[in-house]
Amino acid sequence: MSNTEFDIIKTYFSFPSKRSDIDVVNGDDCAVMSVPPDKQLVVTVDTLIEGVHFPQQTSARDIAYKALMVNLSDLSAMGAAPAWVTLAITLPDINHDWLAGFSQQLESLLAKYNIGLVGGDTTHGELSITLQAMGLADRTRIMLRSGAKAGDNIYVTGFPGSAAIGLSAVMHGYRDAELSSCIQSLNRPLPPIAFAQSLTGFCRCAIDISDGLLADLGHITRASKTGAVLYLDKLPLSEAMTYYFHQYNHGEVDWLMLSTRGDDYQLCFTADPVYDAEIRQLAERFSIELSCIGNIVSGSGIDCYVAGEPVLFEAAGYRHF
Ligand SMILES: [Mg+2]
Repeated sequence: MSNTEFDIIKTYFSFPSKRSDIDVVNGDDCAVMSVPPDKQLVVTVDTLIEGVHFPQQTSARDIAYKALMVNLSDLSAMGAAPAWVTLAITLPDINHDWLAGFSQQLESLLAKYNIGLVGGDTTHGELSITLQAMGLADRTRIMLRSGAKAGDNIYVTGFPGSAAIGLSAVMHGYRDAELSSCIQSLNRPLPPIAFAQSLTGFCRCAIDISDGLLADLGHITRASKTGAVLYLDKLPLSEAMTYYFHQYNHGEVDWLMLSTRGDDYQLCFTADPVYDAEIRQLAERFSIELSCIGNIVSGSGIDCYVAGEPVLFEAAGYRHF
């Protein structure tokens, strides 16, 4: 593809950026950006492979959307403001319709969040997209997995498990219009990017939910050397999720599914209860669905309850901790 690599980049991946902190971008060996002295550079990278991270019928636009959003979700978990991305893309062939859809979606999202595309690479092979995102965080306000303290409230944003229901609907071929918001959660995750940056005023500990709530909260409890108590029935259910369980699970909410399946790209964070009112106000200001679902405790492991009764997921064959 090397003959046409330059053309592909020129045609599909040359986006103008309004950012003034990009010093060198085109026509040199590397891009050069300036980091303000009171900020730290926060970097993350994710690869999406067809058939592994997205089903084969996924549109180019949905792939571009997800490739960017999974990275912005990681930046959000640190409380960083997204600034720049690089993109490495491997294509089985040069499909101009596909490239146009991918590029238009990526360009509009980068413009929306004021992110500069500062470098990239194209190669020939099975379809895969690697996107690296760089963000800027205040030196004193970064949120880390190790920041949880016994007594903290545990919060989640959005509707954890909604994407898992979306995937189930796609896999089973359920076409009910009532489930569309779950399919939207799967294909068009919307991490709480601006909310997360403001949250750094009250919170030092967050993670994004990519592998499932229990697995990701487990990263927090291990890194923070704490335990957690979770009241799973405090997880919020959207109308679409309620519909799904009514229609396809005999009306029973599958708490195991909601707490162990990933792909939500929402935030799980912990904070001292004294900030509860401020955090709820913040969520309202950014129109974020916010739920307090438990507490950080001393000790280790995660104890889950539903309707006041302990739930032992190990019995169901799941062993996360
Ligand atoms: Mg993450």
